[in-house]
Amino acid sequence: MAAQQSPAQILDWYVMHGVDIALETVPQNRFTKPVEIVREVAPALNLSAAAEIKGTAIAKVEAVALARAAQTLDELKSAIAAFDGLAIRKTATNMVFSDGNAQAKIMIVGEAPGADEDKQGKPFVGLSGQLLDRMLACIGLDRAAEDPAKAVYIANILNWRPPGNRTPSTAEIEISLPFIERHIALIKPDVVVCMGGIATKALLGTEEGITKLRGKWQTYAPLTAEIGGVPVRCLPTFHPSFLLRTPARKRDAWTDLLLLANRDA
Ligand code: URA
Repeated sequence: MAAQQSPAQILDWYVMHGVDIALETVPQNRFTKPVEIVREVAPALNLSAAAEIKGTAIAKVEAVALARAAQTLDELKSAIAAFDGLAIRKTATNMVFSDGNAQAKIMIVGEAPGADEDKQGKPFVGLSGQLLDRMLACIGLDRAAEDPAKAVYIANILNWRPPGNRTPSTAEIEISLPFIERHIALIKPDVVVCMGGIATKALLGTEEGITKLRGKWQTYAPLTAEIGGVPVRCLPTFHPSFLLRTPARKRDAWTDLLLLANRDA
């Protein structure tokens, strides 16, 4: 960057690149030699990898126990709020649990809260959420509808915003999975709509990409055996934020919506 940038311009530049949270009060020079040495040596000794795997496994066991014990949505929400096995909760402003009608036949599952969701504590309230609402309205659905046949219920794989809206890590998804699976088991929807590749991969346990899977009925079967739940029809579709970036794919999203609207009861 040019030297004459003002502090405000520099901050804008950071925000533009997704750096909108200060994780530490002291700046770190990641290019100093000791860090490089640790970086080089740690993988060889497998220290950090082993610690990370162990940390994930312990957090997951705790998440499974908490999710399994939750008998109601309120209990699940409290369990997630009390769970401290995910570092992203420390940088998030609010936990994002759900929105919509809990009696709805359709449950929409997204990836993770963004900045707007983090501020309001509700899923899909930013630009992509507004597009989602317009898409749902085209087939007569509304998250606020009282009639369960016209309503949707919305949640995410992650309940906390990853800093800077980065993609959730594999460990974060694995640790969060028992909670969203219990969430689905408690809602008992007829259909789960997976918004985007991350949610689809997480719930279907597949490596197949969203472009291949979208618009084709799948079966969601709980991957965390301990938390219960039954298989549910599942429709993967493009994430609205992808559609905002790639409007040409809105035509595909429309055919997916029609599939959802015209499904057998
Ligand atoms: N994207 C998601 O996947 N979920 C939200 O709640 C908002 C944006």
